[in-house]
Amino acid sequence: MFLPPARPNIERVTPYKPGKPIEEVVRELKLKSPVIKLASNENPLGPSPKALSALRKALLQSHYYPEDTCYYLRKKLSEMYEVDYDSTIVGNGSVDLIYMTCTAYLDPGDELIMTRGAFIIPKIGATIMNARVVEVPPNNYRHDLPHMLDAITLRTKVIYIDNPINPLGTIVTRKEFNDFIARVPDRVLVVLDEAYAEYITSREYPRGLDYYNQNYNILILRTLSKAHGLAGIRVGYGFAKPQIIANLMKVRLPFNVNRIVQAAAIAALSDTRHIQRSRKVNDAGKVLFYKEFKRLNLFYLESFANFVFVNFPFDSQLVFEALQRKGVITRTIKEYGFPNALRVTIGKENENRRFLKALAEVLEVLRTSPPGG
Ligand SMILES: *Cc1c(COP(=O)(O)O)cnc(C)c1O
Repeated sequence: MFLPPARPNIERVTPYKPGKPIEEVVRELKLKSPVIKLASNENPLGPSPKALSALRKALLQSHYYPEDTCYYLRKKLSEMYEVDYDSTIVGNGSVDLIYMTCTAYLDPGDELIMTRGAFIIPKIGATIMNARVVEVPPNNYRHDLPHMLDAITLRTKVIYIDNPINPLGTIVTRKEFNDFIARVPDRVLVVLDEAYAEYITSREYPRGLDYYNQNYNILILRTLSKAHGLAGIRVGYGFAKPQIIANLMKVRLPFNVNRIVQAAAIAALSDTRHIQRSRKVNDAGKVLFYKEFKRLNLFYLESFANFVFVNFPFDSQLVFEALQRKGVITRTIKEYGFPNALRVTIGKENENRRFLKALAEVLEVLRTSPPGG
């Protein structure tokens, strides 16, 4: 039977592979003990309580279409961050904003530069547009900004940098970013994805808004999926010059951020207490992870985010599966080019301890009877 052909480049798209949902693991393995998920960098403290009460209230208005411009939410962002209203945009998660950028800026044959192994969504977005994805290898597990500059050609339209980089957790420093952005030609849009910004207190960390204020052609992306605990209802936001925002607004799906989410996001942005608690739990968990990884003699990267990259002397799929049988879901990152590593989200203290105990047991078994030998 003949099937309608899709656009040829759609053949090249590898669909995004999210972390396994708890429900799926329970179903597949028929597990009884409570399953914990440390796979998708979700907030172990749950949603901001302020957001929850706003959600409940907004539900009653569900029969009305949302306000399409997201006026109050963008107004809130503009006041909070002291940027013009016209410089703000919100999306159905920040992945929505990444797709809008690809749709608005990439013609077939144009180039998007990113780090090999960075967050994969821009790669998918660019491939859908039939643009060329130029992947610069990381240098010592960090973005290699000088080589990204070298990769710029006349076809380069977008450079995507996630800072910290997911799934590695390392950052580019303020000094490195200063040197970089000053050398990017004006015709290239720099997308700086700061999904984990709320977790970071280091003075070394460059703040995207400083560069927006210096008039660079930069699009700053933020999300409420991580520190605000709203991954499940999908909302992200961005800042850029009004002309850049206007282009993104043209390709946006109408009503991309629903009424309930708009209300929840406004409340969550004000919930500084929830953010502080989340940061504290995260910092404490990180220390615990490092200590145990050291004891177990595992290579790991110091993370600026809410997850840690840890490497094994063999295929991490084995560790992943063994942990899963013990009711702990982590994340393999083969498709990012790291076949021996896991990315583990930092949880609450009891979850972290359960994961570390399970890991020690799993490694004990794998090390006494190594796979294939
Ligand atoms: C988690 C994450 C996001 C968040 O995406 P949402 O669509 O806002 O949930 C964006 N960028 C990076 C690098 C991330 O790790």
